[in-house]
Amino acid sequence: MFKKITASVLLTVFVICSSAFVIENPTYVQKQKLRRIVIDAGHGGSDFGASGKYSHEKDISLAVALALEKEINAQIPDVEVYMTRTTDIFDRVTEKANKANAAKGDLFISIHCNDAGPIRHSEFIGYKTETYYKGKGKNKKKATRKVKQYRTYTTSNPAKGTETFIWGLNKTDAKEKALRDHEDMFLDSISARELQDFDPNDPEKAIIYNIKTKQYFDRSARLALTVEEEFKKTGRPSRQAQQRGKGIWVLQAVAMPAILVETGFLSNQEEEDYLNSVVGQKEIAEVITNAVKRYKYTLETKGINPGSMNTEVVNSNK
Ligand SMILES: [Zn+2]
Repeated sequence: MFKKITASVLLTVFVICSSAFVIENPTYVQKQKLRRIVIDAGHGGSDFGASGKYSHEKDISLAVALALEKEINAQIPDVEVYMTRTTDIFDRVTEKANKANAAKGDLFISIHCNDAGPIRHSEFIGYKTETYYKGKGKNKKKATRKVKQYRTYTTSNPAKGTETFIWGLNKTDAKEKALRDHEDMFLDSISARELQDFDPNDPEKAIIYNIKTKQYFDRSARLALTVEEEFKKTGRPSRQAQQRGKGIWVLQAVAMPAILVETGFLSNQEEEDYLNSVVGQKEIAEVITNAVKRYKYTLETKGINPGSMNTEVVNSNK
């Protein structure tokens, strides 16, 4: 009972402070240490992902993920890296999310490659004479008319560049559910134990989940924008940081800030070659590591301002 009362008082104070600060004081920021990053190589095993002329997404995402692990270990030694896979294995996305949550990551980075379908063209090639009949019975007469003829063909899609996704703001409920299911990950152990005494539908608890979900969205948005900024510095064409309205299941299912990096287009010959090269893979790993370093610095020294990101990450049309 004592515990329950203490918890109630603590929680009320926390809720009042945090909600009042977040709502009324936009400069309120919470500093936090970045300790563990979960790197997820997209697809794997029987799930090949996209395919180029000679390579598959599952192999490139793994090579880039491994290069990223190496780069982060070398450049940010105080951060631990957890890999959802290090070999060519298949896991359902639910399993990937479970692994990330069990590893209690502070950040989730999923590596993928893009694919743009061929472009269809239609070209006028001339007229064909067609015979037809007009009138009825005895008046029926044969006639001809000219009909336009077209040739259709496809060419490979020139789309190229990088894009970094976060979950859409309209998918906030799913993210909040992930936080509810893994609340011990973002509350220190004492608060977590105390919170267990509360009904999960308690409105005070709901406010905490809500604030946390919003905060994770802002952090993810900040990192996504930084990743694309870093890609631009290397001369890669950036297709921007985007929120996917349709949602990206795994990004919503992990109870931590999360981004998905589309590292380039396998449907573009120049980019398929780049993505398969050791130089390209290392460059992508360096870009993401530089962005993580900037994100980590802001998070740990200044905090990331809630509500500052919504308008900067465009909505994807996918
Ligand atoms: Zn993919």
